[in-house]
Amino acid sequence: MHMAQQSVGKFRRQRLLIALVVAAMVLLLTLTFRFVQARSNIEQRSQDFANSAIDRFDRMLSPLDVSASNTLGLVGVPCQNVRFPLIEKIAALQTVRAVLLVDQDTIYCSSIYGERNLSFSLAFPELALNGQRMLLTTDAWLLKGSPVLLLWNPKSLDNRSGIVQIVNIELISNYLLVPELPWVERAILNVGNESLEYGNPLIEGTVPAEDEVKFEQASLRYPYTITLYGPAPWRLALATLPEQLPLALLLSLLFGYIVWMATANRMSLSWQINYGIGADEFRVYCQPLIDGGNGECAGIELLLRWHNPRHGWVAPDVFIPLAERHNLIAPLTRFVISKVVEQLPQLPQRSDFHIALNVAASHFRDCEIVHDLETLWWPAEPVPRLVLELTERDALPVVDQQVVAMLHKVGVQLAIDDFGTGHSSLSYLKDLQPDILKIDKIFTAAIGTDAINATVTDMVISLAQRLNISLVAEGVETAEQAEYLRLRAVDVLQGYFFARPMPIEDFSFWLRQFEMQRSQVNMNSASATQGTLA
Ligand code: C2E
Ligand code: CA
Ligand code: CA
Repeated sequence: MHMAQQSVGKFRRQRLLIALVVAAMVLLLTLTFRFVQARSNIEQRSQDFANSAIDRFDRMLSPLDVSASNTLGLVGVPCQNVRFPLIEKIAALQTVRAVLLVDQDTIYCSSIYGERNLSFSLAFPELALNGQRMLLTTDAWLLKGSPVLLLWNPKSLDNRSGIVQIVNIELISNYLLVPELPWVERAILNVGNESLEYGNPLIEGTVPAEDEVKFEQASLRYPYTITLYGPAPWRLALATLPEQLPLALLLSLLFGYIVWMATANRMSLSWQINYGIGADEFRVYCQPLIDGGNGECAGIELLLRWHNPRHGWVAPDVFIPLAERHNLIAPLTRFVISKVVEQLPQLPQRSDFHIALNVAASHFRDCEIVHDLETLWWPAEPVPRLVLELTERDALPVVDQQVVAMLHKVGVQLAIDDFGTGHSSLSYLKDLQPDILKIDKIFTAAIGTDAINATVTDMVISLAQRLNISLVAEGVETAEQAEYLRLRAVDVLQGYFFARPMPIEDFSFWLRQFEMQRSQVNMNSASATQGTLA
């Protein structure tokens, strides 16, 4: 029983472990999932920010394209004739601070200052020589030092004539590049090699701070890019995890509980016994019973063995008590009966040959054992005699007298197993009217070593003999024990001294060997006797 409890404890620990592992995995997976989700949200936020900034810059620039192409016709016309139409256009555009007309590499007209005479390629080599269409620079004339964006629209293929629109970029960028904390800490407009950052009137190259990452997106219509700096998305996503913890914990507890409940059956030993019956994991073994008088094999006791592929060989002391508790003992006993029925033709066809079957007392309830014998045992028309060994680990309940009578009537003998131990008591002798008492192996082991138990052995022997009940001594391991029991006329002996339990299929081979040895011994002793007489 203790082993059975240990085994149940082991299964419970395994269940708990599995539930904990699942709970931990769910926790981890939920947090990972939420982390990945938060990170991609944050990345999407930066992307959206850049897209919308580019969209707005593009929308701000596109009317300037139209106005430039409308104004290109004025290039070459003397300045005093075009200045006022230029001022008019600028007023309509709002974003443009000034327009410069360039003819043959000469800036000859400014909407603000009127006539000029400056070399275009000296003033703006990026536009005149490098072929750039946009230039981020600082205003050299009106608001000295303030950032401006120059848009160059050439009129001729040689890039020497055209118009330059000067855009008030500081104002616009302060409006379009407002950072969006926490994912966008800095937003920057880049044209060529120059950059204009929100909140910084200086035009200069930028670098990310140590803990910032860079995100860059280019306009498809104009030669500029938007750069965003901000904390790494994984860092921000990590910071959101504490908020996710309650949900993740709840889910992990829920899944852990579901697994705990779901494995209640599958992981339990009783479930595995049930499964094992179907999966043919049980084997029927038998142990020979030896006649104490003539030394012949008087029968066999059937013993179950369980080879569980997950746990190896499981001792009957572990699974039998559990099977009894979970109402699985009857199916197991039915299995033993059907297996021994299969083997009947190989067993001795003698009516004094005993086949002892261990039966739990619960199997006696509602005549269940009688029905099982009717369907499984009797149809095989067995010649050997059946003995039912009554085993009850707790207390033998009041066994239905009717069942006992029915069994006796059909010639089935009853044995009380493990007599003298546990709960078996003298009252059973009256209630069950057993044909056989089995002396438990602890009493056999006491022979010659333990005076008290040996006295009990003697008392059980004389009790049985007075009541005319046959005796089987279990656990005979030594010649001394066998001799002691034979001298006291114990009817049947069983134990490792004669044979260990073996697969029932091997029994007929064992019996042949055993009988050959016995006849050999008999012959030797007969010739020895003859020799003595001669
Ligand atoms: P049990 O009915 O008292 O069976 C005898 C046990 O003693 C067997 O253990 C057997 O292998 C062991 N044994 C035999 N000779 C010796 C010996 O010389 N020395 C020692 N130390 N042991 C010996 P096993 O097969 O492990 O079975 C243990 C118990 O499990 C059985 O005790 C029986 O109560 C139960 N059991 C086994 N098979 C069945 C079954 O089919 N149905 C039921 N209800 N119980 C079973
Ligand atoms: Ca037994
Ligand atoms: Ca026993």
